[in-house]
Amino acid sequence: MKKILLTLFSVLCVAIVVGSLTNQINLTEPHEVFFYLNQEYNAEGFDFPVGSPNAIGYYNAQKFGKNNHLGDDWNGTGGGNTDLGDDVFSVANGYVSEVYDAGGGWGNIVRIIHKTGQDNYVESLYAHLETMNVKVGEGIKKGALLGAIGNAGGIYWAHLHLEIRNEIGLELGGGYSSNKEGYLDPTKFIEGNRKVMWKKVRSN
Ligand SMILES: [Zn+2]
Repeated sequence: MKKILLTLFSVLCVAIVVGSLTNQINLTEPHEVFFYLNQEYNAEGFDFPVGSPNAIGYYNAQKFGKNNHLGDDWNGTGGGNTDLGDDVFSVANGYVSEVYDAGGGWGNIVRIIHKTGQDNYVESLYAHLETMNVKVGEGIKKGALLGAIGNAGGIYWAHLHLEIRNEIGLELGGGYSSNKEGYLDPTKFIEGNRKVMWKKVRSN
C-alpha cells in the first residue's frame, strides 16, 4: 500500500512539474513537450537512411519528382530483393511520431519529427518496412536503427520509400502527386543539411 501511494505521489509530482513547464510556454503537441524536455534530440545534421551515413551500396531508383513521386526509393546496388531486411536508420535526431501498418501499397510506416530550429520542424517518413524497431513517443538519434527494408508484403522488389516533409502531421497521402506542397526533395535536403543546423536558443 505504501509503495502504491509513493508511486502515485511520484506520478503526481512529475505531472505537476511537466504541467507547469508546458503551461508556462504553452506547449500543446506531444512532440513539442518532448523536445522541450529532451534538447539532446534536436536535429544536428542529416544523414542518408540506408548505408548510413552516406548511402554507400545503395542507389535512388525513383528520385523525388520523377513520375510525380513524393519521395526517394532507395535500393541496394545488388538489385531485386538483395536488400530485403537491410538496416534502415533515422536520418537525424528526432521524435518517433507514428509507427503502424498502413496496409495496401504502403505497408509498415515510421514517421519521425525532427526539430531544426525554434518552432521549426521537418518530418521523415519511411515506408514498406519489413520490421519496425521503434515505438511512438521515443527519442531517436541520427543513424540509429529504426527498422528493415521491406517490400510491403511482396508488392514490390524490396526498397525503402523515404519522404521528407516540411509540414508535419500531414495525411499519409498517396506517395505520388503533382502537388508537392509540404514535401521536400529528400536527397537535396539531406545533402544541404549534413551539418549542425540547430542554433541553441535557450542558454540555461
Ligand atoms: Zn516510392
